[in-house]
Amino acid sequence: MNMHNKDALVNASEPCDVAVDGAGLRVVVVGAGPVGLRFSQELLRKAPTTHLLLIGEEQHLPYNRIKLSSLLAGEIRYEDILSPLPDTNQYPNFRHINGRVERIDRDRKSVVDSVGVTYTYDILVLATGARPHIPHIPGIEQNGVYTFRSLKDAEQLYGRVARSRELVIVGGGLLGLEAARALRRANTKVTVIQQGPRLMNRQLDERAAEYLRMRLEELGIRVITDSGVRQILGEGRVTGVVTRDGDSIDCDTVLICAGIKPVIDLARTAHLKSSNGILVDDQLKTSDSSIYAIGECCEHRGRTYGLVNPGFEQAAVAADVICEGSARYIGSLEISQLKVLGRTVCSMGQVADFLKRPFQRQWVYHQPKVGVYRKLITFKGRLVGAVGYGDWPEIRRVQEAFQNQRRLMPWQYLRFCTSGNLWGEDDAEQVRSWPANTIICQCNSITQDTLIKACDKGAITLEALSQSTGAGMVCGSCRPLLQNILGNDSAQEKTRGASALLLSGGLALVATLFLLLFPAFSVSPTVMESAPLQNIWHDKFWKQVSGFSMLALIALALMLSLRKRAGWRWMGEFSSWRLAHVFLGAACFAVLTLHTGLNLGGNLNRWLMLNFIALLALGGCASAVLAVGHQMSPSAARRSQRVLFWLHILLAWPIPVLLGTHILTVYYF
Ligand SMILES: Cc1cc2nc3c(=O)[nH]c(=O)nc-3n(C[C@H](O)[C@H](O)[C@H](O)COP(=O)(O)OP(=O)(O)OC[C@H]3O[C@@H](n4cnc5c(N)ncnc54)[C@H](O)[C@@H]3O)c2cc1C
Repeated sequence: MNMHNKDALVNASEPCDVAVDGAGLRVVVVGAGPVGLRFSQELLRKAPTTHLLLIGEEQHLPYNRIKLSSLLAGEIRYEDILSPLPDTNQYPNFRHINGRVERIDRDRKSVVDSVGVTYTYDILVLATGARPHIPHIPGIEQNGVYTFRSLKDAEQLYGRVARSRELVIVGGGLLGLEAARALRRANTKVTVIQQGPRLMNRQLDERAAEYLRMRLEELGIRVITDSGVRQILGEGRVTGVVTRDGDSIDCDTVLICAGIKPVIDLARTAHLKSSNGILVDDQLKTSDSSIYAIGECCEHRGRTYGLVNPGFEQAAVAADVICEGSARYIGSLEISQLKVLGRTVCSMGQVADFLKRPFQRQWVYHQPKVGVYRKLITFKGRLVGAVGYGDWPEIRRVQEAFQNQRRLMPWQYLRFCTSGNLWGEDDAEQVRSWPANTIICQCNSITQDTLIKACDKGAITLEALSQSTGAGMVCGSCRPLLQNILGNDSAQEKTRGASALLLSGGLALVATLFLLLFPAFSVSPTVMESAPLQNIWHDKFWKQVSGFSMLALIALALMLSLRKRAGWRWMGEFSSWRLAHVFLGAACFAVLTLHTGLNLGGNLNRWLMLNFIALLALGGCASAVLAVGHQMSPSAARRSQRVLFWLHILLAWPIPVLLGTHILTVYYF
């Protein structure tokens, strides 16, 4: 596998004559990982004339670290993980070089690289990231022990696994599991040894972790939990490991995925305050106000992060602060999602080992037969955490609700516990109907309205949408949602049963006109004079038959609402129910004619009739619009459908009261 293109490399020792003097701020960024690069893009976007020098020690063009697992699994190519640098035609004062910064001279405001070249700065940004944590295990220094952090590591592992027969992964966290899945080959036995009581014990609860374990075992990966590696065996070359329980496992390769350690050496030697990471305030400034630290290397309010999104948020804040903006960083909410496993495994907020406190509740949806498990945690009615295993179409909306700590309504809990969804089925499938600030691309924090605006401006292919907004360019898990947005725009799908809907909608409208304009059938004042048909209108028995039939039809039609609101899938396809609902509406008209003889009546009865007529008319219009929606502009179709449906629902509310009173008065008097 050619993981990288040699032509793309920049020589580390190439002398840099970067324009760091003259007009404009001189900013030096150390670390060309995802966060250093994101910061450069943010700053140049705000201040395009900044003299910005991005220095990265890795001998590659900047790449997307998150995609390394997919690269290792052979799912994508080297070219797919490269991250584009800011365009020097647009930003002539931007420069990127490969090199290792060895020292910071705070007095002279300069940094010195490994070949002795000095770069001066007005502002220095440290984005030095993290490195793998290497536990003290006897024998760890031998050949055959690997880490997985960089492209170089991925290349080495890829080469190794072709020859490896037995591989032990130390660590059952996110990285260890992604590596296990990526390295599993027909001829390589993979064992994951996890120190904690379960897999991903910081993110998953017991049940989700158990599903994950079963999935890995299904893939042929052996999992050992509540253990650890006490010793790595071999004489210069790995031959096995001894677990904490004393068991020996033969292996020729050991991969250490036991967490990360922020890279703080540069900051330490420059006497910047540090603890686990480089200490920063809410402006991301270190103890030296002209030096900032962002990404995995920094520690803010006692917390370091191991995910990319907090780093991106920090990058945006630091760029704003440097441009004299008022942004402040108050911390990030962490959302973890496991890739390359072919199943959704996600966690947000504190779901594992969380402390029970008053007003905190858990809501669980569990379908063991299909392997779906979803749990929500609310505090005072607001969503503060969630964990899920298996298919979860609403996951992005759940993330949005979690990030905004949205309040959930009682019927949403009911729907969640019965159907696993918080919102109606239609909502879940239409990304465009989600709240505008829903983050669709979690990695780059791209919201739904940004994407829709980009579509409206002409980004009508997936590539164009990704390029213009940056969405889908990091882990790529949001690409189906981008497609959903695009799909809606380019061609609205024809609704199922459109012709029948159009026919019945038309019938309902004709019926409305009939009820309003056609004179009431003349009813003979006495039974003696009446024709046999007229019995229907004044015979008590037939009046009861038609009246209660009407009641039954209305009750059945209302079942549609239950199917939609509660999302009860066992009730069958929603589209079939919708069609049945429209036909029931039309049937109501026939029965109503039999019951009233088209006489609108007086007082309460008149209100009941008028309410019903309006309900019928709106229902007819709504089904007609639904049927022809694919021929309308998507936004017009959505808007008119929404307005008509809501009015229809609104008018349905008084019916039970009016009907109840009508029945009461008939029997009472
Ligand atoms: C395989 C893998 C999969 C991952 N998957 C996910 C995921 O799905 N979701 C998620 O949120 N996170 C994921 N992560 C974590 C994510 O990659 C990190 O959070 C992110 O890379 C942090 O970005 P950073 O720029 O702060 O640090 P880094 O990516 O570590 O970049 C720092 C850069 O600075 C360079 N550097 C350090 N010191 C110097 C120096 N003195 N001079 C010059 N350069 C220097 C380093 O070489 C490095 O290139 C994954 C990580 C790995 C390894």
